[in-house]
Amino acid sequence: MKNIRCVLFVLLAFVLLAGQALAGDVKNLIWVIGDGMGPEAIGFFTQGVRYANLPDYPEKTSNLERMLSGGTWGMFFNNTYDTLVTDSAAAATQMATGKFSRPGAIGQDYKGVSVQNILEMARQKGMSVGVVTDAYVTDATPAAFTAHTQNRQQHMKIARQMINFGPEVIMGGGLKYFSIGENEKLLDKAKAKGYQVVTDKKALAEVTSGKVLGLFAFQALPLTIEMYMRPQIPTLTEQTQKAVEILSQNPNGFILMVEAGKIDWAAHANDAGAWFKEMQNLDTLLGYVLAYADKTPDTLVYLNADHDTGVGAFTYRHIGRKKAMKKTEQGEVLYDGDVDYASFKTYHQFLLQKRSLYNVKGSLKMMPADKLTPAYIQENLTAALGYPVDISGFKNPTDLDGLFKQLDEERGIVWATPSHSSLPVLSVAYGEDADEFSGLYHNTEILPRMKAALGW
Ligand SMILES: [Zn+2]
Repeated sequence: MKNIRCVLFVLLAFVLLAGQALAGDVKNLIWVIGDGMGPEAIGFFTQGVRYANLPDYPEKTSNLERMLSGGTWGMFFNNTYDTLVTDSAAAATQMATGKFSRPGAIGQDYKGVSVQNILEMARQKGMSVGVVTDAYVTDATPAAFTAHTQNRQQHMKIARQMINFGPEVIMGGGLKYFSIGENEKLLDKAKAKGYQVVTDKKALAEVTSGKVLGLFAFQALPLTIEMYMRPQIPTLTEQTQKAVEILSQNPNGFILMVEAGKIDWAAHANDAGAWFKEMQNLDTLLGYVLAYADKTPDTLVYLNADHDTGVGAFTYRHIGRKKAMKKTEQGEVLYDGDVDYASFKTYHQFLLQKRSLYNVKGSLKMMPADKLTPAYIQENLTAALGYPVDISGFKNPTDLDGLFKQLDEERGIVWATPSHSSLPVLSVAYGEDADEFSGLYHNTEILPRMKAALGW
């Protein structure tokens, strides 16, 4: 008996020690940031996949939902040192450095002092590092992981700092900031530092190792809903696959930050159809990174947002004397009153949308007033939305801002703001040491948790 107890004790001690040794075992980190992806962006998309019969999701489960079900959730605040609401620069700075910052600042704390970021720390540990985005590479989020400037608008300076820092992978839009004015010679400098510079999908496919600078658009990549117009641009998922292929060649592991940057842009435009497509773009990316984590030991995927944008959600509206009556297909009356609840029909409408409403509104605003008739507007909206739109009941249909608001009202959507909000946002960790990221925290606490997971 004594011997058995002794063996059990040794086994128990071994299990406990092994459990401790496991924390800090992350070798590869893929950090996906949905820019502007507030809680409703997640609800809006996952619910759409569950209930709207999307042809791409025969099993009605998004990769995002799979990640939520198999991962560890957390929720965090994103306030800066002295503001309740953040911008992308301060948010990414606080996430990448663990220090409180101020809106507009890139890689600097609230006193304006440059602070080390997670990619710089990883470099010291001998890991490979990269940033991928579908905005432009000098935009706030990738910039805060690779540069240090007082102001996010200093794109030229950010581009030069990025090349000097030299991540193995830099991909996204923003060719402009590497090729004109004071940065006219920056691509030559990048090549001298070992970068393979590529500007389209075909050239990217030919890169198999080494360092890569992929600049696939003069400024930002198009919104996902309009990507079909530019087939030579690799998708966010294609860029990420190549980034992982290159970075994973380092036996010391890698850290890759991928930004799905257009969720924010679609929400700034209060364009729910484009918003859905941006979430689907993120979901395709998650399909790839989760599969990579499943087959690659010691890999952590961490998904979060920098802040909410727009506070967009479904709602109901009172329609007065008009009365709404909703019946099931069998004729059973569901409700009968003056309240019109948003229905799943709205999702089907989003799926038909062909253009960004921001761009449509922009081109309508360029039209001379005498050409901008209600009939002309209706024709353009019908083409952009992909289903027949009737604006005959709208008040002042030629007031374009008011018109788009009424359109959202018809579709049961409400947006509180064209800007950012202070809503706390969600994080989901999946894979090795995911449990480091549970509970309620602040974005300055992400880095210490990352360090624990990485065993630093
Ligand atoms: Zn942002």
